[in-house]
Amino acid sequence: MNKVLLIRYGEIALKGKNRPFFEKRLDKNIKTALRGLEPFKLVFQRGRFFLQIAGEKFHAAQERLRKVFGIVSISPSSTVSPGLPDICIEALALLEKSFRPGISFKVETRRVNKRFPLTSPQISSHVGAFILKSGLDIKVDVHQPEILIQIEVRDQEAYLFSQRIPGPGGLPVGVTGKGLLLLSGGIDSPVAGYMALKRGITLEAIHFHSPPFTGEAAINKAVDLGRVLASYGGRIRLHLVPFTDIQTQIRIHCPEPMTITLMRRSMFRIAERLAAQRGIEVLFTGESLGQVASQTLENLVGIDKVTTMPILRPLIGFDKAEIIDISREIGTYPVSILPFEDCCTLFVPKHPVTRPKADELDRAEEKLPLDELLTSCLERIETRTIYP
Ligand code: ATP
Ligand code: MG
Repeated sequence: MNKVLLIRYGEIALKGKNRPFFEKRLDKNIKTALRGLEPFKLVFQRGRFFLQIAGEKFHAAQERLRKVFGIVSISPSSTVSPGLPDICIEALALLEKSFRPGISFKVETRRVNKRFPLTSPQISSHVGAFILKSGLDIKVDVHQPEILIQIEVRDQEAYLFSQRIPGPGGLPVGVTGKGLLLLSGGIDSPVAGYMALKRGITLEAIHFHSPPFTGEAAINKAVDLGRVLASYGGRIRLHLVPFTDIQTQIRIHCPEPMTITLMRRSMFRIAERLAAQRGIEVLFTGESLGQVASQTLENLVGIDKVTTMPILRPLIGFDKAEIIDISREIGTYPVSILPFEDCCTLFVPKHPVTRPKADELDRAEEKLPLDELLTSCLERIETRTIYP
């Protein structure tokens, strides 16, 4: 008997010619996620991946696979030769692991090898009868069994398991395209990044900081958030932009209530230019409609006006409480709530505009040497590659 992890992915949604592309990418992403746990063997066979890995690394591998998008569920399985005697013995052993007196069970079989002499229901009832004859205090319940013994009979081997650990679902990172995430140190943008990754986007991140007003702590926070995202996405390139000059110029030359909106406009301009340089076609942000004064519909429109690149806002329809729930689940929350100086909180106006007119924003920016400021920012970007 050998142990393997049986890995299922969303095959149903994947008929047609995208499928091999998807499977190849998933294969690569699984191997990346398991880096450091070598040696292991990943075998692909008719709609499933099978991972062979040493017993002591089994659990660690399982935990990492739970973060690989595209995976729907994982089952720790035993493998035996595909003959009834071995299957029966292993099924009983599997049941004994979770045995309590009086417990109910059911056997379910999926026969992938159609040349196997018995049908799936025949295999199930044969194995069920064998277990009942063992003398253990157990009963069959086909509707709500406490233990479900599942058997997959394939050509070379039969797989037995009783657990289905949910994966994250979604699409393998890398199958849909590239995006640039505006990553602050807050709660929302890391969640937006997670959503982008979940839909198969290869993500890079851009973070604006304001030296010397914001210190190393602010950068470290963005790096730490990037690291959590990298545990889902493989690795993340993080671009750090010194933003102080632009902020200072806005502060000096523009009406105070517009500060945040104008800062945001310049962030988007820089993000768009960087994205273009890197062959990236969309921006992602953590904005959610109406959450704060700077995220009114008018402000979002006023910000959108300055770029031509599509801006995707995966959190647009979420309540803050829902976003917090996700951030807890995905592991970004504890980092996001660490105290730090955000580059924007330094310059928060007392009464931010909520209904700015686009032409007023344009006019406010006329006094700024924008081109110069943007170019200088872009030239001073520091890029780091972050691994999980
Ligand atoms: P978050 O929790 O993501 O900071 P928020 O609700 O605090 O969001 P804002 O601070 O208004 O909202 O920021 C709106 C969005 O602008 C953020 O989600 C993020 O995408 C982007 N953003 C804000 N500050 C920065 C920054 N310093 N660097 C990069 N992107 C930023
Ligand atoms: Mg914020």
